[in-house]
Amino acid sequence: MTRTSSLLTAFAALVVVCLSSSAAPAQDGTSYMPGAPQLSLRHDGPPDTTITVTVSPLAEGVYAAKVNYVWTGWVELPEGLLLIDSGLDERTAKVLADSIRARSGAKPFKYLVNTHAHKDHTGGNAYFVAQGVKVMAQTHAAAVIDSMAKIEAAVHAPGNSNAPPPSPVVRIDRRKALGPASRTVEIIWLGKRAHTDGDLIVYLPKQKVLFAGDLVSNRAVPWMIDSKMDREGWIASVDSLRSKRFASVIHLVPGHGVMERPLDEIAYTWNYLHDAWDRASKIASYGTSIKAFKDWGYLGPYEGNEFYAEVHFMNMRRLYNEALGIKTPGRPGARAYKK
Ligand SMILES: [Zn+2]
Repeated sequence: MTRTSSLLTAFAALVVVCLSSSAAPAQDGTSYMPGAPQLSLRHDGPPDTTITVTVSPLAEGVYAAKVNYVWTGWVELPEGLLLIDSGLDERTAKVLADSIRARSGAKPFKYLVNTHAHKDHTGGNAYFVAQGVKVMAQTHAAAVIDSMAKIEAAVHAPGNSNAPPPSPVVRIDRRKALGPASRTVEIIWLGKRAHTDGDLIVYLPKQKVLFAGDLVSNRAVPWMIDSKMDREGWIASVDSLRSKRFASVIHLVPGHGVMERPLDEIAYTWNYLHDAWDRASKIASYGTSIKAFKDWGYLGPYEGNEFYAEVHFMNMRRLYNEALGIKTPGRPGARAYKK
């Protein structure tokens, strides 16, 4: 290898390291809004063209993949691949599909489990549906995903009334199991409203792997803005993730942030849900104006974590209102929110 080419190789390696270690690579003006990525269409800056996929093999035939700022994953089953969430949009879905094929070959895409209905987890659905997947979601989330798919289909085929309607999402009430005994995949609803009203987890008891969706965020501020979010149900759900049933889990794939030791990830989420509420409810009880939320909402331990600037202060306003018994519309999508 010549000196120039070895320098080039070193530089390329550095670029890869920079890309993969950056939590949320973006250009100026891009909004990072889990659940409301439509907002990103409103920015004035150039479009965000960076797509980073970081794949973590967790067990034989089981992978987690962080696509920009959202975690996804897949499992090789005898009949084909089971995907967990589809990423942000068609563009990221294509890149994710490439990463999957590079590791799992030409196995067909068979199932796609959406952990919940937020756009940053379902944006690539149409791409994978075109590849033949059957989409599955919790019953409450399925209704939302179905209506989003209809809107998307109408946008892509305007005036074409002959276009077949998108086939409805397979609804899971409490639990569904797939796969052989050696690689059973349990898809579970923990039974409570939490991050949304339809959060599924995907559990592989043999491999001791748990995909938690947005029930768990680690070193990334959880999104507490969904209109169906229920803080107490969320805390109870997080508590059940550290029950005996899941005590042997080795790898816990969060919805956002960093994969670390499962109990540390769970503790981060649990602590944030408590700390944010404690501060907001105390301030509301003092009669302090909500307007100064940038001051009273400051929570030092989370400053600098992913989404702190974008999401944390919205959470604080939501919780302040909740403490006063004021119902806010929440934010299933950008249209439900007025500045
Ligand atoms: Zn979410």
